[in-house]
Amino acid sequence: MDSDCIFCQIVAGDIPANVVAETDDAVAFLDANPLTPGHTLVIPREHYHRLNDVPDDVAAEVLGLLHDVVPAVEAAVDAPATTVAFNNGEAAGQEVPHVHGHIVPRSGDDGQRPIHALFDDRPGVGDEEMDEIAAAIQAER
Ligand code: 5GP
Ligand code: ZN
Repeated sequence: MDSDCIFCQIVAGDIPANVVAETDDAVAFLDANPLTPGHTLVIPREHYHRLNDVPDDVAAEVLGLLHDVVPAVEAAVDAPATTVAFNNGEAAGQEVPHVHGHIVPRSGDDGQRPIHALFDDRPGVGDEEMDEIAAAIQAER
């Protein structure tokens, strides 16, 4: 546990939260400042900063709980869809340094945009560079 971490304090019960589901290694609770009603966060109990830091077994459990909770969130707030996303690192907008997946209930008429709308335009990556990037990712795994 990182005693400075707000999500570790939630896991420890030192800060109250609306917990909606939990497993041995993961917890789901309502976001205190929801983007839409039902906005839920799913975290590992242990403190890991980014997805990259999470061990395989814990990652599987976090994704498993996320998968379990998504339909329950949608049903609870009568939403036909959800945006599911991780801000993975400060450069991507992560503010709480304890890895967490967001489940944000959506409706077709909520006036908000898809994740693609984070970017104004696309860089137009050519075929050769696409091949190089794919090969580099394969080599890094
Ligand atoms: P991030 O920008 O790091 O991806 O998202 C952090 C999220 O945590 C935000 O949506 C914010 O509303 C939520 N949050 C911050 N502090 C607390 C808290 O003390 N309790 C709960 N339940 N959510 C929090
Ligand atoms: Zn933490």
